[in-house]
Amino acid sequence: IAWSEEAGWHDAQVKPYGPLILDPAAAVLHYAQEIFEGLKAYRWADGSVWTFRPEANAERLQRSARRLALPELPESAFIAAIKRLVEIDKEWVPSAPETSLYLRPFMIASEAFLGVRPAHGVDFHVIASPAGAYFPGGIKPVSIWLSEDWSRAGRGGMGAAKTGGNYASSLLPQAEAYEQGCQQVLFLDSEERTWVEELGGMNVFFVYADGRVVTPALGTILEGITRSSVIRLLEERGHVVEERRFDIAEWRRGVESGDIVEAFACGTAAVITPIGRLKARDWEIGAPDAEPGALTMSLREELTDVQYGRRPDHHGWMTRLA
Ligand code: PMP
Repeated sequence: IAWSEEAGWHDAQVKPYGPLILDPAAAVLHYAQEIFEGLKAYRWADGSVWTFRPEANAERLQRSARRLALPELPESAFIAAIKRLVEIDKEWVPSAPETSLYLRPFMIASEAFLGVRPAHGVDFHVIASPAGAYFPGGIKPVSIWLSEDWSRAGRGGMGAAKTGGNYASSLLPQAEAYEQGCQQVLFLDSEERTWVEELGGMNVFFVYADGRVVTPALGTILEGITRSSVIRLLEERGHVVEERRFDIAEWRRGVESGDIVEAFACGTAAVITPIGRLKARDWEIGAPDAEPGALTMSLREELTDVQYGRRPDHHGWMTRLA
């Protein structure tokens, strides 16, 4: 779907997958004026295809658009685009357990010019790719590397937007995590380097022995759709959920004293994954082969059951696509 100042959103088209034609002076290539989303289409046992909370993705895309000075795409156009693509690609939605068709909507500034200003010509696209099970051999806790040198986003920056620049800034710390034998990087706030923010692509939760659950407050982090769904499920189960600043020292002390009994990460790709070990430059807590926590695993089961149509969707979270 194209956008121009004069015509607004217009010219929705379905095209065979292939390279995009972009002018070498297209604003997106120079100033990174782009945003994206990530969601999945799930095949249910009866063959129908569904997605999870697409209105929330549409709304987050609109918030990202405002931050990146891009035009807002109406929710109805966002959902219609996804539906159209999935209807056409229906046979690409896999049916093996825990697999899906990953959907990647994105918006780019395609106008060609070399000054620094918001573009007047923009395009919105959706592409799709089948995704295998995140944990094909059973759930394994992740090991996390604490990035002490780098931040992902700062106050007043773009941390709450889903935009490529945030991921560009996470590539080097993520590569360091791999070098350290970890699968994910953990970011702290950029000012005091004390407050836990999020992983490269997931939000984090901490479970206390008394049943309280803490997750970092919104602001500089991405407002995960899995995160808000998990908060809802926890509250329904009677847990007190504290969205607040969370000191990295509180995590370390909490694990050492036994007050924190589980930590998990969540996002569309991995749904909910136990955190086994946190490794910093001079210390570490947990173990890579730690047993996944009971609450972590039961939340994972509840959420994946709803997504795959194995239990009733009391929240109206699922939308049928095909
Ligand atoms: N934080 C970051 C930086 C992410 O990239 C993602 C994945 N979109 C998340 C959190 C989790 O968000 P969601 O639950 O909407 O996938």
